[in-house]
Amino acid sequence: MPDMMRAVVIARYGGTLELTRRPAPRSGFGEVLVQVHASGLCSTDLHLLAGRQKLGDLPRIIGHELAGEIVEVGDGVTRWRLGDRVTAAIDITCGRCRHCLAGETQRCVTMRRIGFEQDGGHADFVTVPAANLVEVPPDISYAAASILPDAVACMYHSLVHQGRVGVGQRVLILGVGGLGIHGVQIARSAGAEVLATSRRWERVALAEEYGAIGVNAKDQSLDHAVASFTQGEGVDLVVDNIGTRDSVREGLSVLRPGGKHLLVGYLDETLEIPSMRFFKTEQEIIGCRGSTKQDLIDVVLLVQLGRITPVIGAHYKLEQIDEAAERLAAGDLVGRIVLTR
Ligand SMILES: [Zn+2]
Ligand SMILES: [Zn+2]
Repeated sequence: MPDMMRAVVIARYGGTLELTRRPAPRSGFGEVLVQVHASGLCSTDLHLLAGRQKLGDLPRIIGHELAGEIVEVGDGVTRWRLGDRVTAAIDITCGRCRHCLAGETQRCVTMRRIGFEQDGGHADFVTVPAANLVEVPPDISYAAASILPDAVACMYHSLVHQGRVGVGQRVLILGVGGLGIHGVQIARSAGAEVLATSRRWERVALAEEYGAIGVNAKDQSLDHAVASFTQGEGVDLVVDNIGTRDSVREGLSVLRPGGKHLLVGYLDETLEIPSMRFFKTEQEIIGCRGSTKQDLIDVVLLVQLGRITPVIGAHYKLEQIDEAAERLAAGDLVGRIVLTR
């Protein structure tokens, strides 16, 4: 094992993502050391850099989605072997609080997260608790596997568990970025009809390739599109990957009575709801955060079965982090950015 490794860190909020050399970690009790082959770059990484969520002591190695191979097995780990291909659930949860006991580990009150409160995967090596590991079958590439924990599993969690998407439902997906394009596939796979919006025609076109009806939010009326999509009834579910006052207002305005607005994005600090219509039609707004390890296991299987295709917009090397971050901020990509090694 090398003594030093490359890692992308946040050294101070409001700075830039820095590629640095750091001591390579070693696996502690109950942990394994993973040599990272690929990690997914998420807009949350840029939010973290801006200081929108606190990471504890800086510098912190970020990167909450990763895939790689086990190169060291810590004491107390029995199930895993050197060379195993793995990805990892993001939340390190207590297993004892009422939420963990109910299987709702995404609500664990004392969780730590890989790439947030503890060092993450935008590095050559990362330590991961064995309890978080999920096996990656040989027919799924490391690059594809690296975007499953968040870009795919979060959409799966939102639609399947929070939204209870089902056959014949009509789903509106607001925003078809790194997450939304997988939301299209998951909703279609569950038997729902999907309307998907973006202000970029490339994203609209890709959503259509995956079976959605595309709406270019720049020059098409959402109201008209939803009215003809649902014969005037309104959609059953809105997946809001944007999270602004406008997106919430838009979503609620086209939701059927009793419909659910799934809040996945969180751009604006506060949101507004039109109280009378919300009250009269018994709509719901449901927060959606992250995913459970079981969600990740389900998603790996769905990819293996060919029901979901992980969509990668661009590959960059770890040392091209500046370029990759710029590209992400520009927002012109279709699909997720993957940092390879
Ligand atoms: Zn993320
Ligand atoms: Zn817990």
